[in-house]
Order: sequence, then C-alpha cells, then structure tokens
Amino acid sequence: MFKNIISNSFKSYQYYSLKNSSNIFKGQSSILSLQRSFSSSTTKEDPKNCIGDTVLTPHKAKKEINIETLKDQEIIDLLDKGEIQSHNLEARLPHDLRRAVHIRRKLLARDLQKEHQKMLQAQAMMEAAQKSLASGVDPSSIPTVTPISTLDFESSLQNLPLDHLDYSKVLGACCENVIGYIPIPVGVAGPLLLDNKPVSIPMATTEGCLVASTHRGCKAITKSGGARTVVLQNGMTRAPVLRLPGVIRAGELKQWIENQENFYQIASAFNSTSRFARLKNIKVVVAGRLVYLRFRSSTGDAMGMNMVSKGVEKALEVLQEYFPEIEVLSLSGNLCTDKKPSATNWLEGRGKSVVCEATISGDIVRDVLKTNVQDLVQLNIDKNLVGSAMAGSIGGFNAHASNIVTALYIATGQDPAQNVESSNCITLMEAVNDGKDLYISVTMPSIEVGTVGGGTFLPAQSACLDLLKVRGANVAKPGANSEQLARVVAGAVMAGELSLMSALAAGHLVRSHLKHNRKSEPKPQSDAVSVSHNLPHSD
Ligand code: ADP
Repeated sequence: MFKNIISNSFKSYQYYSLKNSSNIFKGQSSILSLQRSFSSSTTKEDPKNCIGDTVLTPHKAKKEINIETLKDQEIIDLLDKGEIQSHNLEARLPHDLRRAVHIRRKLLARDLQKEHQKMLQAQAMMEAAQKSLASGVDPSSIPTVTPISTLDFESSLQNLPLDHLDYSKVLGACCENVIGYIPIPVGVAGPLLLDNKPVSIPMATTEGCLVASTHRGCKAITKSGGARTVVLQNGMTRAPVLRLPGVIRAGELKQWIENQENFYQIASAFNSTSRFARLKNIKVVVAGRLVYLRFRSSTGDAMGMNMVSKGVEKALEVLQEYFPEIEVLSLSGNLCTDKKPSATNWLEGRGKSVVCEATISGDIVRDVLKTNVQDLVQLNIDKNLVGSAMAGSIGGFNAHASNIVTALYIATGQDPAQNVESSNCITLMEAVNDGKDLYISVTMPSIEVGTVGGGTFLPAQSACLDLLKVRGANVAKPGANSEQLARVVAGAVMAGELSLMSALAAGHLVRSHLKHNRKSEPKPQSDAVSVSHNLPHSD
C-alpha cells in the first residue's frame, strides 16, 4: 500500500512532467482542447488536403445544431461534451468569426490552467511521498500542500491581439484553430532607386538595427545613381516521386518524357489546369527504380506552389496512360525543393532568378558607409566567399540576405518558410574606376514570391504590397507584379549586404585602431557608433 502510493505518485508526476516538459506556450503540451480537436481532425481529415509540402484548404465541417444563439458558456459545455469540435467553431459561428476565436481562447486558457494545476498537485504528492520515504513516516500523515499556480493563462492571452483582424480572410486560407494574431513592427527602408524608380521597402521585424542598416544601404545606392536588376529565369517547380517496376522502365520513362512531342502532350494537360500555369520543362532524375520529375512552370503573379501542384496532378494522369505501372509515391519528392536547403535550387533556380548590381562611388563609401572600397572588397572575399566556402555552404555566400528576405516576406504576406531557399545569394564586390569606386552585385537564383494567393490578400500585407505598387494580379501583364516584387527583394538584399559589410569592415578598423594604440583610451567615435548602430546582431 505504502509502496503503491509512492509509485502512483511517481507515475503521476512522471506523466505530468513528460506531458508538460515542452514549453506550454509553444502549444507542444498535452492541451486538453488540442487533444479534443486532434482526436476528431486527424481521423476525419482528408489526406488529399496536403499536397507535398504545401497544406491546402481544409474541408468544410458538417453543420449540425445552430449554436449561434447560445451563450459562450453553453457553447463551451457542448465542446466539453464533444458535441462540437473546437476546430469547427468558425463553421458553427459563421456570422461572428471573432466570437469563435474568442471562445477558443477562453477554452484554451481554462484547459491550460486546469492541466497546470493538476501537474502542480502531482508534484506536491510526489514531494510528500519522497519525504515519507526518507523519514519512514506514514505518507497519509504528511500534509500535501499544492502550490497555487503563478501562471494565469487567461491574462497572458489578453496580450495576444484578438480584435481588428478580418477573420473571414483568414478562415479556410491562412490559418486554423485561430486564437489571435502576432503584431510585428513594420519599418520602412529607402527610398531605393531601383531600375530608375524609387522604392520604399516595408520590413516586418523585431530585430533592432535591421531596418536602419538596410535604409543606410538604400541611401548609399540611391546617392550613387541607383541599382539595376535583371530576371534571368522565372518558374516555380514541383517534383513528384514515382516508382517503376524496375530500372529498365524507369529509363524508358525518362526517354519518353524527354521526347519533344511527348513533352507537348504533358504540357497541354498541365496547362489546362490554370490560365496562368505554363509548363516550361521537366527535369527527370532517376535513382534506382525511383523517378523524380522536376516540373517547372510560370505561374503569373502567384508564388505558384498550389498552381503547379494542380498541373502536376493532371500531367501524371497522362503519364499513367502510357506507363500504367507508375506508382505515384508523393506529389512532392523533395527534389522541388520547397523549404529545405538544397543544391538544386542554388544551381538550377526556383521561382525567380534575379541579379542586381550597383556602382557605389568612393565618396559615398566613405561618407555614408564609413569605410573604404579596398576594405569592403577584401572583406567580401574573406567572409562571403572564402568563409562560406570553408563552411561548406550552399547558396550562403552572403552576409545576411535572409534577414532582409524574411522581413520583406512577412510584411508582404509571402510564405516566410521559403526564406530557406529564397535567401540563396552570392554577393560579389570589385574595386572599379582605378580602385576609386565599388561595384557590387547580388545573384539570387531562387526568390519565391507572389502578389496573389497565400497571405498576400490579408489587409495589412496588402497595404505593404500597395507601398510597392505590386498588390494583386497584374491584369495587363500577368506575372509583372510578382516579378517586380522579386526585383525589390534583390535590391533590398543588396542594400542590406552593403550596409552590414561596411559596418563589419569599419568595426574591424576600430578594433585594429584600439589594438595598435593601447595607451590612449578609446574615445567614442562616429565610426564606432555607426558600427554598433548598423550591425544587425544575427550575423
Ligand atoms: P499559389 O499557387 O501561389 O499558392 P494559388 O494558385 O492558390 O497561389 O492562387 C492563385 C489564384 O489566383 C489562382 O486561382 C489564379 O487563377 C488566380 N489569379 C488571378 N490572377 C492571377 C495572376 N495574374 N497570376 C496568377 N494567378 C492569378
């Protein structure tokens, strides 16, 4: 009996420790409400809702009793009984989506509080059991005092904004199980003179100095006459993985697809799925009896993942007419490559492949960037080229392209997870005009952006696209808006590279001054101030 109490307390403690070991705010813990929604959603979810790495819109929930006239508590009672599901609240309260979010938050706070209190109780029991084991006293005579939780989940959730978001735009498109939204400060860098047009760059970030630094880079470029861009290639990719009975048929499939007439047949099926999808090529990669087909297609102003996935599904139907033994293992076979580091995106491109250049006059390097051309060129070799080579980098031959890419992506409703490959960039610098001026370029082969679809139509994100004059579809020239956005990404990255590299080069100088002049106390210098001011801390 005595042993049982101890072992039960221990088990119960272990249970709660294990279940709650991860950060509760990250939603990793065993939250009752989430268990509730998972238990129904995982069983009912249509697996077709997930195409490759991109999650498609969830299916509509079945309507049962009308809960719109009920009080919040009555709805919570129904949720507790399992008669309605937390993830279906919006479907059940279609005329008041804010209320659905509000009820879900209330339920979540209550369940987290309960769960936490239970964990504290189990902990107290465990401590009492350990004391009794150490002292040999009957555990029932040791009082267990359960501490009162210092966590108040309901008050914490008050800080997660609920109002002023149009949930109708979120529902079925951008997020599920919504409990609010995260406000992220948006700063503006620029204007940047890009292809002879001034551009103001919105950046959503919580990294101090990032906007200031990019702004300084924009100023240096603009004062030097601006930057020019070229788009070398434009096409979103998707690569399903297929299995053939053996290598002979795998080889035959490759040959069949590489025949021009057969390609046209596949392309015609692919293109029939959208006004904007136009298949450009298919790269066939064979590994044993597995065949990977990397489809590349233009996608108008959409980033294009959904669009290309639809086209690929249709194209596979054609292939299966000729090769009925094909097994489609997955619509995404990772050769796409979406949201993962890969050499294929770096070498062959994905989305828009953009190159941007500018010549910065020596005076501006000195007056705005507080450094000199030679130091910048040398540091670019030592850090961005040799350093990254020594790190075995793929596509990371830059100082902090992903800082700018991610801030711009969040501001303009792009998929920020695509910063992985969209930040592929090589920054090159040369001394030109007898060493007086600096030539800089950034080459970015896989910028994945769209001005329609995804999060681009949410009001705040649309406002940022408006600042760039690229919101929505370009009716006159489909694809022109998303292409312009890609040029802006490259221009902004170049500004960021220029500024951070200058700060680092100047910082190097400051340190070496200190080293070689130990006797004198370091005085605050304008350079030193500008170094700390212009150095985003993540690099
Ligand atoms: P993604 O493929 O980036 O996820 P979607 O395919 O979901 O984007 O969204 C693009 C939608 O917008 C499609 O339904 C498409 O027909 C429509 N659309 C309207 N105008 C354009 C345009 N100019 N370029 C691309 N898509 C457009």
